[in-house]
Amino acid sequence: MRLIDADDFRSWLLKQKRLSKNYTVAALDEMPTIEPDPKKGEWIKQNPTVDTEECSECGYNIIDEEFETLFCPWCGAEMRGEQNE
Ligand SMILES: [Zn+2]
Repeated sequence: MRLIDADDFRSWLLKQKRLSKNYTVAALDEMPTIEPDPKKGEWIKQNPTVDTEECSECGYNIIDEEFETLFCPWCGAEMRGEQNE
């Protein structure tokens, strides 16, 4: 598998007047491979009286900080809260 920027490819496609299948596939092959930025988040305490925390990226809840993980188990964000620094 190779990752490309689909937005860049879409922009290129929209500028083309005529496209053949071979030309489009060749252009796709020439698109640079990208490294996606890893998603980053943190555990946020929701309420000072209730011991729950929530992922800042997807809202996944954990019961309390004992269950904090380095990555959100739901969305995979790397959790960079003060616990992990
Ligand atoms: Zn999450």
